[in-house]
Amino acid sequence: MKEINESEFESEVLQSNKVILDFYSTECPPCEALATKYEDLSKLYGNEIKFLKIFRQNNRDLADRLGVKSSPTLLFFRDGIEVAGRLTGGIKRRDIIKNLDSMLTDEKVALIKSNIRPGVSEYDVIILGAGPGGLTAGLYLCQARINTVLIDISLPGGHVSTTHEVSNYPGFIEPQAGYMLSHNMSEQTKLCGTVYKVAVDITRVDLDRKEVVIDEYETVKARKIVIATGTTPNLTGASGEKELKGKGISYCATCDGKYMDGKEIVVIGGGNSAVEESEYLTRFAKKLTIVHQFDKLTANKKAQDKVFGNPKISVTYNSEPRVFKKDGDKIVTEIENLKTGVKENLISDGVFIFTGMKPNIGLFDDKLELDKWGYIRTDEDMRTNIPGIFAVGDVISKKYRQITTAVADGTIAAMAIAREMD
Ligand SMILES: Cc1cc2nc3c(=O)[nH]c(=O)nc-3n(C[C@H](O)[C@H](O)[C@H](O)COP(=O)(O)OP(=O)(O)OC[C@H]3O[C@@H](n4cnc5c(N)ncnc54)[C@H](O)[C@@H]3O)c2cc1C
Repeated sequence: MKEINESEFESEVLQSNKVILDFYSTECPPCEALATKYEDLSKLYGNEIKFLKIFRQNNRDLADRLGVKSSPTLLFFRDGIEVAGRLTGGIKRRDIIKNLDSMLTDEKVALIKSNIRPGVSEYDVIILGAGPGGLTAGLYLCQARINTVLIDISLPGGHVSTTHEVSNYPGFIEPQAGYMLSHNMSEQTKLCGTVYKVAVDITRVDLDRKEVVIDEYETVKARKIVIATGTTPNLTGASGEKELKGKGISYCATCDGKYMDGKEIVVIGGGNSAVEESEYLTRFAKKLTIVHQFDKLTANKKAQDKVFGNPKISVTYNSEPRVFKKDGDKIVTEIENLKTGVKENLISDGVFIFTGMKPNIGLFDDKLELDKWGYIRTDEDMRTNIPGIFAVGDVISKKYRQITTAVADGTIAAMAIAREMD
């Protein structure tokens, strides 16, 4: 794998046969999660396809010329022509493999796959998800000398790692950078001895047999599983959103905010995340418009005060986005006033969407009991309806979703498991 710069793009990319190119940034958790998979895949495919990386912050002209608007972005080239479709955001291993395979003959693909050796490992407890809930469960289980593995599709930290500042986690007088708080939580759990399998693809989860298959070929077995998979941002439902994701529409202010120097931003949402991340984005942007569906913001008073005192931020109430489309380098957001039906176009350099969350339960079978919003029901010890399966944090049915409440759930589940395993 090689790091290149803009001046080498012609010789290393355009004049080569088969190339995959990773535009990455710093302070970008999805970029770090990709780096592990990229390294791993370069060992498998490296003889057939050239694996290159380029630092987006230092090569902005090239990124702009190629229309790279989000970190990380993977581009695939054959004989100097871009092929196979770009990948961006939280990139899955299987999607990279699909694109890489499409550049090779069937025989070459079969040969590469024959080099992969399936493996099986066994633990007392599998924790799925390494956000605050999973990390805390991992810490307590490890300190109780219970053999535990933490599995995450991304890097450890969960939502905290992409939150610019956390001011309400007890024990810190000053607000903490989210990535530092999550880093410290993760290091504490790792140092104790919990095994980490992170930035992996989860191929299959069997809750009855307590088995998880990762990266297609590795089976992890345990006596108990803790589900701590948290939530994922909702899509707005406006047309063009999926197409422009990573090409002007972002869900991560810490990842993409730094490319907004002197630019204009539209933020969709009006809750705590939208308001707090807007405040952060104005470190870079010259103007920011919040579009909110109700007639007042739903964020807490402290967060609202910051926004109303910020001259760069204005709020458009009672409105929802209907269409996102590109006009040259700009993003056009068509919004509709829900009271009058009047439509209006907002022109900006980038759109950030913070419109609530949905639980990450897609991989679990339908035997899990859920509430009417799809969150997992648990008892007071965090047990689900399936024996040996616990759930903690934002993914469970509860009233308040915060770092402190996820940490509390993780503690309770681990203590209940430790008692059962005595
Ligand atoms: C922008 C923003 C700002 C916030 N600010 C604050 C704040 O200031 N203070 C506060 O207390 N709370 C804040 N919150 C809420 C807080 O971050 C969450 O309540 C907390 O992170 C929940 O922890 P969790 O462990 O349940 O889930 P998460 O933090 O969501 O972590 C879940 C983990 O599971 C992983 N995962 C997902 N699917 C799978 C799968 N299938 N298999 C394995 N792993 C999987 C994810 O990659 C992730 O690492 C904020 C949230 C957001 C979005």
